[in-house]
Amino acid sequence: MRYPFLNLDTVNAPYREALAEAATRVIGSGRFVGGPEVEHFESMLSDMTGVPYIIGVSNGLDALRLILKGYIEIGRLHHGDEVIVPANTYVASVLAISDAGLTPILVDADIRTMNIDTDLINRVLTPRTRAIMTVHLYGRVAWDQTLVDIARKNNLLVIEDNAQGIGGVSKIAGLYGGRRTGSLGDASAFSFYPTKNVGALGDAGAVATHDKELAKAVKALANYGSDRRYHNIYKGYNCRLDPLQAAFLSVKLPHTDRENADRFERAVTYSRNISHPYVVTPYMSSEVTDNVWHQYVLRITSGKREEFIRQLAEHGVGTDIHYATPPHRQPCYADLKHEALPVTEQLAGEVVSLPISTGTSVSDAAEIAEIINNLKL
Ligand SMILES: *Cc1c(COP(=O)(O)O)cnc(C)c1O
Repeated sequence: MRYPFLNLDTVNAPYREALAEAATRVIGSGRFVGGPEVEHFESMLSDMTGVPYIIGVSNGLDALRLILKGYIEIGRLHHGDEVIVPANTYVASVLAISDAGLTPILVDADIRTMNIDTDLINRVLTPRTRAIMTVHLYGRVAWDQTLVDIARKNNLLVIEDNAQGIGGVSKIAGLYGGRRTGSLGDASAFSFYPTKNVGALGDAGAVATHDKELAKAVKALANYGSDRRYHNIYKGYNCRLDPLQAAFLSVKLPHTDRENADRFERAVTYSRNISHPYVVTPYMSSEVTDNVWHQYVLRITSGKREEFIRQLAEHGVGTDIHYATPPHRQPCYADLKHEALPVTEQLAGEVVSLPISTGTSVSDAAEIAEIINNLKL
């Protein structure tokens, strides 16, 4: 492929030496679980987001699971409570809710932002609604005044799935006054899966929260449920962040804003140059930082998405689909009750993601736009 969708070797190339040094340091430290590397990374993420409590964990799904289970342990959520979640999301958001014995209530997407349509939340509220999980999908900040007002009025917990949104800034303040994604709600989950905007060299994640009690519960749950050695207050898990991954992430985290700015440049290049009657480019707000462009997602409105992908591949352009099958269409959720989700269904049939990582140059993006403009669909 002349323009691969994503090449992690290229993405990590600028950090290669620093990553190798970090690995050498950890190998020499003799400390392979917990310890100063993990604590150092946690404090870096706390400084970046302004969130007081950070717990490094095994991955993004575990971060979400630990938040929900932590809220159950401290009595803020109960089995069977309803949690509002966008229908247009990666399945992990919904998996965490059902795994905790809570009920996911799917809400359809806004066709423009592709995020949760917050105007639809009021109609699905019931006396059992206890929380909203907002997802900064494709890197676009999913936070607005409607969501804040509904959460405050109904005393709902707000949990951010920030797996795709690291570094984003909201124009509407969060519940605790912050603006960065991950600081907006009561608690948030980060993923450092290798393909995310800040990727580890393996699985990694983090929980961020403003709530000291939740932080204590999450920390214990991630460590067999023990609050001190050989003393188990919960029936917990082993979901810890490795010092090796923490050391790698400490190399990469300081570059988040610059990397995200590079993604923005590519997104702008696509949006300025793509002009095709059957291709809708993603909505661009007037802000620069309310989208960290984890994915650059087009809609193909001619019904010929497969043809579009095939022709691009012929021109050496890699693409991907996020996501062809939404959670409610997955076999494991065949029994899940939900409202009609027309926008989510439409998106699943129309979306295509273009290469957007720092491995794709700005001139590559201009060339890809030109290739798209000449396609016959
Ligand atoms: C990647 C992702 C997750 C899960 O993170 P992992 O680290 O892969 O477990 C959760 N939610 C969303 C929206 C994601 O993109």
